[in-house]
Amino acid sequence: MLPVQKGSGENGQHQIPVDFWPHAAVIAPNNFVYKSLSNWSFNIAVGCSHGCTFCYVPNAATIKQGAALAPFGVTDPDAQWGQYVLLREWDEKKFLASLSAAENTPKTQLKADGNRAIIYCSTTDPYQVIYHPDALKRKELGQAARHLVRRSLELIRDNSTLNVRILTRSPMARLDFDLYKSFGPRLVFGMSVPTLRDDLARVYEPKAPAPSQRLATLKAAKEAGLHVYVAMAPTYPDCDRHDMTATLQAISELEPITLFMEPINIRAENVRRIEAQAEAAGLRLKSDVFASTETWQEYARNALKLVHTVAKSYGLSDRLHLWPDKSLGSQTSLRAVPDQAAYRRWLEKRWSRVSEWPAK
Ligand code: SF4
Repeated sequence: MLPVQKGSGENGQHQIPVDFWPHAAVIAPNNFVYKSLSNWSFNIAVGCSHGCTFCYVPNAATIKQGAALAPFGVTDPDAQWGQYVLLREWDEKKFLASLSAAENTPKTQLKADGNRAIIYCSTTDPYQVIYHPDALKRKELGQAARHLVRRSLELIRDNSTLNVRILTRSPMARLDFDLYKSFGPRLVFGMSVPTLRDDLARVYEPKAPAPSQRLATLKAAKEAGLHVYVAMAPTYPDCDRHDMTATLQAISELEPITLFMEPINIRAENVRRIEAQAEAAGLRLKSDVFASTETWQEYARNALKLVHTVAKSYGLSDRLHLWPDKSLGSQTSLRAVPDQAAYRRWLEKRWSRVSEWPAK
């Protein structure tokens, strides 16, 4: 078991920032831009035990909770990312009310690229192991997390026409393959597989299960008859052509319905977290791409182009869904390319793409 670090609470007492969070888990509209993942999110917790060093969540969702997290010992949500997991409560009445609100939202009010889907999860992982030093508490939290996921899925299946997109880094998802199957084409199952290199995964996703385990889980999902997709998101500056090719070859064997891809982006303190983890692991990274906006944009354009080219050679072009960041359409980025009009059209096509959903 990994150690749980203690935080300092409002009253100066040290506490374990792994606990129940006194707020119900409900379906809420999400704010994805150009992602085509879902219209709503269902998040089981604040925080994530996978603690990916690149993670964008502490920069967006978690920072907003700042003051509310302090009594749980989370004084710096960004620096402490990966050390806290506050599991939301199950309140069936509130969940059903949120489900009804989502189900009855007129299509005209929904972004078409969301596929009327709910994503599990957008700001945490639905299948993480919740570490707590007290065995009883650990069991209680683990069981409650399982109940949150399974019961909510059953209610969505039986009380709505909404779709579900599962996104996880954990093989624990296998526990729910039977439930996924009962959704038929209303559910797609996907995992994040940015690289097959374990040394990179240990730096960028230090507490998440190894990429080989994720690949094996995706294969099992495919064999179980599920509709699978893959997110190479985010890829890292150290993912060279050799690594990208190996990853894309393995993904092509899964025949995913969609392959999402985006290069890593700089968000708040993530570069500092990545560099600290790399130093601890004794790995030298290509972190010079983070030196300036221009160097990052050049790296991102090249990474997108490389995946575009390699994916084509594996017959994945039709289902490749690239996520170029909005800033790649800025004047700075446009000035760096030879044919601005063609590049702008290329970006627009990616930004307006609607991801695939199985036919019903
Ligand atoms: S699994 Fe997802 S939410 Fe959790 S730390 Fe990693 S990127 Fe962030």
